Amino acid sequence: MNDSQSRIIAMKDFIRIQNPEDCCACGACVNACARGAITMKEDAAGFFYPAVDEAQCVKCGRCVEVCVFTKKQVGANGEPTVYAAAVKNSAVLRESSSGGVFTALAEAVIDRGGVVFGAAWGDGLTVAHIGVDDKAQLAKLRGSKYVQSATGGTFREVKALLKDGRPVFYVGTPCQIAGLKAFLGEEPENLLTADLVCHGVPSQKMLRDDLAYVSGGAPDTIEAVRFRDKSYGWGVKGSLMRGGAKTKYDAGTSPYYFYFLKGEVYRESCYRCRFPGEGRQGDFTLGDYWGVRQELVDKMGGVDPDDGISCLLVNTDKGRQWLSAIEAGLSLALSDRHSAEKRNKQLLSASVPTPEHETLKNGYIENGYDAFRAGYKTHFKEHMIRTAKNMVPSKLKRRLNEMLSK
Ligand SMILES: Cc1cc2nc3c(=O)[nH]c(=O)nc-3n(C[C@H](O)[C@H](O)[C@H](O)COP(=O)(O)OP(=O)(O)OC[C@H]3O[C@@H](n4cnc5c(N)ncnc54)[C@H](O)[C@@H]3O)c2cc1C
Ligand code: SF4
Ligand code: SF4
Ligand code: SF4
Repeated sequence: MNDSQSRIIAMKDFIRIQNPEDCCACGACVNACARGAITMKEDAAGFFYPAVDEAQCVKCGRCVEVCVFTKKQVGANGEPTVYAAAVKNSAVLRESSSGGVFTALAEAVIDRGGVVFGAAWGDGLTVAHIGVDDKAQLAKLRGSKYVQSATGGTFREVKALLKDGRPVFYVGTPCQIAGLKAFLGEEPENLLTADLVCHGVPSQKMLRDDLAYVSGGAPDTIEAVRFRDKSYGWGVKGSLMRGGAKTKYDAGTSPYYFYFLKGEVYRESCYRCRFPGEGRQGDFTLGDYWGVRQELVDKMGGVDPDDGISCLLVNTDKGRQWLSAIEAGLSLALSDRHSAEKRNKQLLSASVPTPEHETLKNGYIENGYDAFRAGYKTHFKEHMIRTAKNMVPSKLKRRLNEMLSK
């Protein structure tokens, strides 16, 4: 039993988080409580934690039972088959963050009468998981939202759909997939899951503050946020739409995006994330195939890496079956785990907090978003280097990276 398990189990019959790193906000406990006694409450930095209304609680212990942090081991899939992959549909590829494998799988599930769950923008620039069973609605789920998505009551919805015999595809961070499985307590045949390569999530409050800042105090004028906009190439550059006009949203314009990429402002559980080490959670793992070698691109046949390539891990036999259902719509090349991990360390280990993490977090709690703005200015040299790097054409950048990694 590890420290966090004993800390939680030693508590009475209901869930109590004594240490913030022992909760990833998956929402399994909230979904499991038949009394509706648990709600998610925001802390000073905007991160959500479960709070129990003791007057409603009957001390059944169900919330403790379903919490992944009380489990010895989560996710024990075997050795994955690794691919470089991209959808052939160029419109979908353009709208997707990496190679668009999510949409290919989602469409196949909908074609079989299923429901797809993923993260979508909601009112007031919030992000939450929703379920859709219409291909036109998949646009809402497409694209990475680099913030913690609220799972709300979706685990219960999934349970009811599975019981009715509907196929369900649920996509989320590894901790969300682990939470869903712990909540269900079994793995029904009609459930398909994909976890994302994930280095951590900031809070929605931090993101809202940032959007207020970059919009000059008028977040209501933001019509759309994209963290990944391929009109700037396949990379970590996004855009904001305001009044029908597009502006860049990236580490050069947004303190939030800058600190997200540096790994400074994540939830505490992310710095102790157990998921990279304990095997994958989903039938699939989806990520960007950063640093994909030209040799592999050639094997995919006629793809332009600047359009985006997914790093696709197929973790289970169920995953292998579904892959054969979508294979015709993909450009695919077999790779291996070592190559995929080279530029994606999140597949191997959790993010490491630096001293700036504590300073920023405490600064944010005390002074709000001003702490991010003040810290951001001190990174003048990094901003200059980033600007210079952005001026190098991506094809040349890839060649240089390839030469340097030899
Ligand atoms: C917070 C976060 C961190 C990530 N970090 C990395 C990384 O370090 N390295 C890497 O290679 N890839 C990372 N990814 C994954 C990557 O950005 C793409 O999401 C992934 O490659 C799938 O892309 P796609 O082209 O197949 O489909 P897309 O259409 O881009 O699919 C996006 C899918 O991700 C889901 N999603 C979007 N935002 C969230 C969210 N906030 N929480 C849960 N699910 C969400 C959507 O519901 C959809 O299913 C991260 C994703 C997120 C959300
Ligand atoms: S112990 Fe039971 S009733 Fe109490 S909060 Fe947990 S699940 Fe709900
Ligand atoms: S079940 Fe999920 S949300 Fe609830 S305490 Fe455990 S990690 Fe946190
Ligand atoms: S880093 Fe780990 S704990 Fe944090 S959101 Fe990703 S999977 Fe969850």
